[in-house]
Amino acid sequence: MSEAPETSQELSEVLEDLRRHLLWQEEDGGRFLQVDARLAAELRGAGLARLRAQAQAAKPASSVAAQPAPAAPQPAPAARPMAPRAPAPEPERPLAARAPEAAPVRREAPVARPLEAPAQARPAAGPLPGVVEGERPTLDEIRRELGDCRRCKLCDGRKNIVFGSGNPRAELVFVGEGPGADEDAQGVPFVGAAGQLLTKMIEAMGYRRDDVYICNVVKCRPPNNRNPEPDEVTACEPFLRAQLRAVQPKVIVALGKFAAQTLLRDTTAITKMRGNWREYEGIKLMPTFHPAYLLRQPAEKKKAWEDLQQVMKFFGKQPGQRG
Ligand code: SF4
Repeated sequence: MSEAPETSQELSEVLEDLRRHLLWQEEDGGRFLQVDARLAAELRGAGLARLRAQAQAAKPASSVAAQPAPAAPQPAPAARPMAPRAPAPEPERPLAARAPEAAPVRREAPVARPLEAPAQARPAAGPLPGVVEGERPTLDEIRRELGDCRRCKLCDGRKNIVFGSGNPRAELVFVGEGPGADEDAQGVPFVGAAGQLLTKMIEAMGYRRDDVYICNVVKCRPPNNRNPEPDEVTACEPFLRAQLRAVQPKVIVALGKFAAQTLLRDTTAITKMRGNWREYEGIKLMPTFHPAYLLRQPAEKKKAWEDLQQVMKFFGKQPGQRG
């Protein structure tokens, strides 16, 4: 069946309209309108009737073939969205330009606070109240200051305070460790067996006992004749030093390690210290063995005698010489 010439003319016009439209699309942004050959074939062949109807509907009734129908205004091609750019890396800021980082909060370790010193049940040792440091007190002043002393625990078991005895202006002072039972009972230093030996030693040196002054580091008897403990020595030591300031002897003989170590503040063993002159506050000091030790170790009496002979030599004395 052949098409009528009018129909064929119309079809040609439609195709021409379509071709122009496609050209316009290509020239004016046709990048977005892709029409391939398959679609063009469909337009030319199978879809003739439909295209005719569409073409008729698009044309004004009075001028079907005068001018190609203006193409419907195409929306302006939308701006192609820009592909999101990867953020450019931030240039490394110089260190000085950087905002200072917040300094970490330093937490100081809690400082351990020293514990409060426990309340002392006994008066603290120290400079003697009532006895001016550096001045020469009298033995009576010191004894009055000592009073019924309870400055250390040795007061608990004592019978008597054994302060000292002898010449308050002696040139020679003997300092022992502490009272024994006999001394505690009588209140006088060196009256027991060790005291009797000391008296013989003093007389062998050419002195009478009353010529010299005798005292101890601690004034009260330690229980069971034990050694004085450090706190007891510390409590009583100021009275000993005050006694030596009062007497101001030329020579001190330290009997045993407690006397020597306390006065010299030296922990050297008495076996090494003995026989060697030392000095205590400007006063010559001779360390030697304690008479109680010599009673236990009679062989050591010879060494003690040698030590005392050095003292005699200092005073220009001969053995047995009195005065
Ligand atoms: S040993 Fe000395 S400090 Fe201790 S109670 Fe006796 S006198 Fe006082």
